[in-house]
Amino acid sequence: MDETGAGWLTRIIVDFVANSSENSLRMETGEKAFDEVLVGFSSGSDPLYQTYKEVVGEDHWTPREAFSVKFPESRTEPEELAVISWVLPQREATKQDNRKETFYPSRRWVQARFPGEEFNNALRRHVVARLELQGIQAVAPLILPEWKWVKSEKFVFSSYWSERHAAYAAGLGTFGLCDGLITAKGKAHRAGSVVAKLRVSPSPRPYEDHHAYCLFFFDGSCTGCRKRCPVEAITEKGHDKVKCWDHAGGTCAKFVKEHYGFDGYGCGLCQTGVPCESGIPPKILKAIGRLPMVAPTGKV
Ligand code: SF4
Ligand code: SF4
Repeated sequence: MDETGAGWLTRIIVDFVANSSENSLRMETGEKAFDEVLVGFSSGSDPLYQTYKEVVGEDHWTPREAFSVKFPESRTEPEELAVISWVLPQREATKQDNRKETFYPSRRWVQARFPGEEFNNALRRHVVARLELQGIQAVAPLILPEWKWVKSEKFVFSSYWSERHAAYAAGLGTFGLCDGLITAKGKAHRAGSVVAKLRVSPSPRPYEDHHAYCLFFFDGSCTGCRKRCPVEAITEKGHDKVKCWDHAGGTCAKFVKEHYGFDGYGCGLCQTGVPCESGIPPKILKAIGRLPMVAPTGKV
């Protein structure tokens, strides 16, 4: 049996999400932050990672560059690396609360970011630690001290590593008009990844078009996310990152402090109350002739 293959890794992630007490919104209700996780894999030598320098940001790391930040002495070739990606779907109660909102995010939604992202970080550390126990070098790019946002002439701003783009490479979903990643469990989620020096078969990537699951690009029948955005940060030309951040990270941060009593931010209105919120739109599934593609779970 392959002790460090896709099945083993998937079980580690699925078990942690299912059983860790850190998977919590830390509300009086005691509810979890996230639902059952989706997991996928891509190769460190996937040419997509090179194209991300052109379409995500000039400074976006390839898996090997991210790996080299932690292991500068290592002479590792891209094909010796695997990128383990996951998607943590928001729970129904969280989505339901945010669906009702028209300008500010609901409290649950913000708590799924703060402290929800702390759980995502715990999962990143857990996967790295389990791999290291097996003697496998691994790094979670997003929690490296060197990871940061950077200003970009072409992309306004971008970061050294995009979890959504790693998930796209791993076959977990495609992008919508609003830039969110539409997965088998929808667009309301948080994503994470770890780069490890091991060989794992890449997950199937059942699309070629990076907008394959978005109804706007499919047949023009939806602009739901545009209608949900309270500050017109989404148009038929795409997502205006500056307008979005001014609202989510500025106006909403103030609101969160004043009304919810903690430091946090977020919005996510375009991720809820839309046809791609909780799955790939049925019309698209029907057209591509298959049931929702659910990535490997603990059952593999
Ligand atoms: S709401 Fe509609 S237009 Fe926006 S990403 Fe989803 S399917 Fe595409
Ligand atoms: S997160 Fe909020 S502000 Fe940003 S695009 Fe979505 S709805 Fe608009």
